[in-house]
Order: sequence, then C-alpha cells, then structure tokens
Amino acid sequence: MRLVFLGPPGAGKGTHAQVLSKDLGVLHISTGDMLREAVKAGTPLGIEAKKNMDDGKLVPDKVVIGLVAERLERPDSKIGFILDGFPRTAEQAKALDVELKMLDMPLDMALDFETTLPMIIRRLSGRRLCPKCNKNYHVRNYPPKKEGICDLCGSTLVQRPDDREEAIETRLKLYREVTEPLIQYYKDSGRLVQLDGDIDVAPLNVILMDLFREKGLCPK
Ligand code: AMP
Repeated sequence: MRLVFLGPPGAGKGTHAQVLSKDLGVLHISTGDMLREAVKAGTPLGIEAKKNMDDGKLVPDKVVIGLVAERLERPDSKIGFILDGFPRTAEQAKALDVELKMLDMPLDMALDFETTLPMIIRRLSGRRLCPKCNKNYHVRNYPPKKEGICDLCGSTLVQRPDDREEAIETRLKLYREVTEPLIQYYKDSGRLVQLDGDIDVAPLNVILMDLFREKGLCPK
C-alpha cells in the first residue's frame, strides 16, 4: 500500500496517517516531522530549513525531494508507506513519480482531506506539541491530563512556531497557490480520492478500509 495524503495544514493528515499507518502496517513518512527532527538535531539541513519553517514558508524542493528519495530508497519502504505532507509542489509530485517508477513501487492512491477554513484555524491555533517526544495535543479537542504538560514525559508543551497567526496565513496562502493544484494532477491520472477530513479518526478509518478492500489493495 503506497499512499499520498493531500490537504491543507490542519486538515488532520498527520493524525489520520499516524493511526492508519499502524493499522495497515506501513511506514508513516512525514516530511514535516523529518525536517523538525533535523532542526532539533541542528544538522546543516535543519539549520537551512528552520527559518522557512518558522515563517510558514516551504523548504526548497531540492532539499525535500532529496530527503524523501533517500527515505524511499531504504529497503523497509517496500512494506508500503503513507507520505504525509509530501508532495507539496508540482515539481515534488513529478519527482515522486520518477522516483517511484525507478523503484518499481507505483503509487496506489492520493487521498485529499477536505476541510473548512474555520476548522483549520480552530485546529492549528489550539495545537500544542511536546518538544521532547513530539506528541501532539489540542487544547480543546485532545487536551493533556494536566494543562500544558505532556502525559508521556512531563515536559512543558509548546506551540509550534508555524502555528502562530501570521505563519498560518502564509501556510494557507502557499497551500492554495502551490499545493492545491496537485489535486488536479492526481485527478487527471485517476489516482485521487477525496474525503471529508472533519470525520473523526475511527469512522474515517472504517471508510478507508472499505475503500482499500473495494480497490483490492488489502485483504477482504
Ligand atoms: P507540516 O508538519 O507538514 O505542516 O510541515 C511543517 C513545515 O515543514 C512546512 O510548513 C514547511 O516549512 C516544511 N515542509 C514540510 N513538508 C514540506 C514539503 N513537502 N515541501 C516543502 N516544505 C515542507
């Protein structure tokens, strides 16, 4: 099973990918997580990417394409994967098709998570992150047991720099201008499935599993 998750920031791609990848036994490859790890580790790539990320801008195609290609070329990618947050530009989408063709691992489907602007703002502005173990929370929808403290490791939760209002505006603008056209790219090649991103994780999982069975992508 090889999937791409599309949709605006705050559409729930990461949450759904986290759960679905476990259920399907495939890798969850999130370029956002990979880049945040590089920033945390202070690698040259992380240092280069940090400013763009904090401002809500995209990291250059060359950097992200290289990162994903290296990950897909590792042998464990053969078990399948969900790409979450990649591709985000036409150049990335084309590079992905070339890479997957070379690896003889064609994409099965691109899932587009549709949502509304008020829902995006609500999700992103309430999101909190544990800087130590990377667990995500939401102040209203998914609060920690003790306010502001990670349930798992006791660290103080933080707001991602790119979840501030100014950065959210930049991210949404870039999404509409650069990433949204990819929906048509995948529609034109018959690989697109559009979903309501506001459905809760458990019922959405049932819908997706039925869809995968229907398409012969997982056992009946
Ligand atoms: P995310 O966690 O997917 O929202 O990504 C966080 C940030 O990482 C984005 O706002 C970008 O700055 C950067 N990023 C993640 N994936 C990509 C990508 N495919 N292309 C360019 N920048 C990316």
